[in-house]
Amino acid sequence: MSSFPRPELGEPYLLTPGPLTTSYTVKQAMLRDWGSWDGDFRAMTAELRARLLDLLGDGKAAYDCVPMQGSGTFAVEAMLTSMIPPSGKALVLANGAYGKRAVQTLAYAGRAHVVLDKGDYLPPRGAEVAQILADDPAITHVVAIHCETSSGILNPLAEISKATAAAGRKLLIDSMSAFGAIPLQPGDYTFEALVSSANKCIEGVPGFGFVLARKTALIESKGNCPSLSLDLHAQWDAMEKTGQWRFTPPTHVVAAFLQALQEHEAEGGVAGRGARYARNRDVMVSGMRALGFETLLSDEWLSPIIVTFFCPADPKFDFGRFYNLMKDQGFIIYPGKLTEAESFRIGCIGRMDASVMQAVVAAAQMALDKLGVSSAAPPAKAVAARMAQTA
Ligand SMILES: *Cc1c(COP(=O)(O)O)cnc(C)c1O
Repeated sequence: MSSFPRPELGEPYLLTPGPLTTSYTVKQAMLRDWGSWDGDFRAMTAELRARLLDLLGDGKAAYDCVPMQGSGTFAVEAMLTSMIPPSGKALVLANGAYGKRAVQTLAYAGRAHVVLDKGDYLPPRGAEVAQILADDPAITHVVAIHCETSSGILNPLAEISKATAAAGRKLLIDSMSAFGAIPLQPGDYTFEALVSSANKCIEGVPGFGFVLARKTALIESKGNCPSLSLDLHAQWDAMEKTGQWRFTPPTHVVAAFLQALQEHEAEGGVAGRGARYARNRDVMVSGMRALGFETLLSDEWLSPIIVTFFCPADPKFDFGRFYNLMKDQGFIIYPGKLTEAESFRIGCIGRMDASVMQAVVAAAQMALDKLGVSSAAPPAKAVAARMAQTA
């Protein structure tokens, strides 16, 4: 039996990149009401900000934490439109849906930008970034996606950070689906700000995101943001002065998140959380490969967050039916987001361990049997296209 049992009968595991499966104690933390103005809740906000800063390690003194209501995208938009001034220019490193969304956000806000678009799943490399920055002195900021959740690729942030710093530009990181499970500290990486949210690797429930930014960058961001509610400087300034969120805070979500942060610490922090997710991935990927499934990415680029598999070539395979057969067995999987090949995704994050992942593989085997699919091998042309691109 799993050490992470399903708390309530009939509640499926979410093998998705957030919202994800949370612990019973995280859900339980929401069973009371808090006044947003009251000192008790202000203390909770202060604790949340301090604990998130602690995750930055020794370099945390130069940074501050600004939570922002809404889903992760709201916090990304707050970071991009507040940190990049109207006179700035961004280089966006895109290899999937979240890179594209960053581009769209900059277009909405009227910020000058160029894009290095690597398609569905190829990594942006440090040398490419260095070249683009050398050729275009107008670029002030580089926007990178840490784990691009649409393919599950773990982008080479170390190279990107080095190239950006060497060129004297500023790095903004969407670490939404990685922060809390993959190390990202100012001692190892040079960055202006990073953004993540409550419902990813910290294993809280959805309702806010947060930006960890250099204090100098926060000071400089005053007056940049074209939006009232997403103005990071205004939110920071109000929080510093009053200890409160500017507008109605997601009180229950904050309470759940504090519990989630305690559980994160008890598990051994970023290292402990990352190790469990990596084991989840390894058990799940080797089990799925044994059934004939193939991953989109080679092992070098597989994140411990979410994994993309090609759909089997067998005409008896139907994703909608496969999805329902998995759900009947208690597992919610995730459709794929590739433009060229049929695919689906299985997440490794959330309150689940290796024994749950073994059960996922057994459920996939059962689902294939019910569909009458004898081999889960993908179409040869999907694999060939991947090989040609990554060669
Ligand atoms: C989840 C996620 C986001 C935010 O998505 P929302 O649906 O707005 O929460 C942004 N970037 C990445 C890489 C993500 O995984």
